[in-house]
Amino acid sequence: MNIALIAHDRKKEEMVNFVIAYEEVFRHHELFATGTTGTKVMESTSLQVHRFMSGPLGGDQQIGAMVARNEMDLVIFLRDPLMAQPHEPDIIALLRLCDVQGIPVATNIASAELLVRSLGRGEFGWRDLKDKYKPGVI
Ligand code: PGA
Repeated sequence: MNIALIAHDRKKEEMVNFVIAYEEVFRHHELFATGTTGTKVMESTSLQVHRFMSGPLGGDQQIGAMVARNEMDLVIFLRDPLMAQPHEPDIIALLRLCDVQGIPVATNIASAELLVRSLGRGEFGWRDLKDKYKPGVI
């Protein structure tokens, strides 16, 4: 599965600790991240991460492009709800595209934990049917 990791600055430590805790689950998947988040995850784990640009410079939109093509299977986006972000429009756009495609997205650690435990139990097999599912088409 393709998994996107994004964490705002005050959430980066939480993200790194989360990935360390579930490293053995993540090891079996392709990881993508915005620039700084990806660097921090790679520095603290033995995982390889495809890094896009930093979020404020367009990284959210690069991940959004994969989401728009239904190529991302899970998005973990630890947002900072207490600080305004200069790239707020990009954040909203990314979350909107997750809803367009019906892609599981977690914006806090509790939801992330539930989704990654589900991933670890092999419960994401339904994503293999994604090419057959077209949003808005019944
Ligand atoms: P970063 O981007 O991982 O490059 O810091 C995340 C963000 O702030 O959107």
